[in-house]
Amino acid sequence: VSAAREGVRMRERLVADLLLRARAVVTMNPGREVISNGAVAVTNSKIVAIDNAAELSERVSARRVIDAQDGVLTPGLIDAHNHPQDTLLRGVLDDLGPGERRMTSYVFPYEHGISDDEAYLASQATFAEMLLNGTTCFCDAGGPTPDGVARAALDVGIRGGIARRGNDLPGPMLCPVTGDAETVLMRASETVDRWNGAADGRLRGYYNLDLPDNATDEFCISVVESAAQRNVGIVGHLVGEVHRSDTSTRRQRFSDVERLEQLGVLGPNLTLAHIGWIHEEDVAAFARHEVNAVHCPSQSMFGATGVVGHGSIPELVGAGVTVGLGTDASCISRFLDLVRVMYLAACAHRDVRMDPLVIGAHKAFEMGTIDGARALGWEDKIGSLEVGKEADIVVFDASGLEWWPDPFGDPVNNLVYSSSGRSARTVLVGGRILVEDGVLTTIDARALGRELSDLRPFVLDRLGLGAGQRSRPW
Ligand SMILES: [Zn+2]
Repeated sequence: VSAAREGVRMRERLVADLLLRARAVVTMNPGREVISNGAVAVTNSKIVAIDNAAELSERVSARRVIDAQDGVLTPGLIDAHNHPQDTLLRGVLDDLGPGERRMTSYVFPYEHGISDDEAYLASQATFAEMLLNGTTCFCDAGGPTPDGVARAALDVGIRGGIARRGNDLPGPMLCPVTGDAETVLMRASETVDRWNGAADGRLRGYYNLDLPDNATDEFCISVVESAAQRNVGIVGHLVGEVHRSDTSTRRQRFSDVERLEQLGVLGPNLTLAHIGWIHEEDVAAFARHEVNAVHCPSQSMFGATGVVGHGSIPELVGAGVTVGLGTDASCISRFLDLVRVMYLAACAHRDVRMDPLVIGAHKAFEMGTIDGARALGWEDKIGSLEVGKEADIVVFDASGLEWWPDPFGDPVNNLVYSSSGRSARTVLVGGRILVEDGVLTTIDARALGRELSDLRPFVLDRLGLGAGQRSRPW
């Protein structure tokens, strides 16, 4: 009798592929629940159960168990603005003087001069570094080699958005225009159609509006129409008027935001990165049209663009605008560690505003997870640990001294204020283990590093960007 009862009980057990147990599970669900001694069950690509570990061990038979006694389990981090092909340029933009035109003289010749295969290798390095730091999803901020970026994402296993650079004017930074407006738009649409939904939805396609100054009104309107037809997002840049941080300054002309509003570009599927200082009315327009923003503090602090010191990020957050976080590029952020970016987002504005309650670790962690997902229109699938969502999961190892003396008391504060992405031990994307015990499972990162080191001097020489050719500011 007891054997029969046991059989019934066994049949009621949920069979899962994987059970992850950790000392703290930071769910980022609507209640922002943190489960101490928690567990997450994964089947195929999805989370099928989440609860305290004792409860789940009763209910779930898992083919494999990962027991992270010193672990903090969180949603995978989301890097909502990055140019993945820029890795071979890392180091070339260091300490450029104000007269050296970073984009015009270096970034655009590089991006438009490399082959798709070179973009593939460089992007692989980007995604490897992201995953090793706990980032499970990126969004390509728009470049000329989206296929290389997408192929790298497919092979490394990361989730992400793909976008081809969209501009029909060179603008003040002389961004190359790759054809007439119709051709540029057609090729952008081809990119979206090729990659949107690829790999069981692991990739999504986006349109790009590179900068407001780089697009005619007609081009902006066409992009909005094409994105609406395909029900996809639009990503782009908005520098803002950082040098006119005095809000009493009378504007000389319509702001970029006003222009985009009049053109019907502003909407919940638009995500604009950087955002220096913008008018109060522009902040209100972001909120009114549910436009999303992406904050890239490491880009601004490295490149001296003034977003932290003179920008409007705290105002956007205060107005309820969804603000994600991004690294922008390894040549301008230098690191692709979203935990370090969270630290900057959490703390840098406090110093500038002399207000210890601006943003902080918990808001920064939201920005790097659920808010980033929302900014990319992807919050139904990722950004939090909830039943039915994709199993994009990080286990951070909290055994390091920087987590002590109370590693699990407030794991979010400990991660953001004390630690870094290097605490990431195990990383899953769609239920697949891509980092195990701190090592990538899909590609050989060391071999890739050697390949990039060998390739880099040839690429820089070919493009006339060899190190040492530029002047130093000192
Ligand atoms: Zn960018």
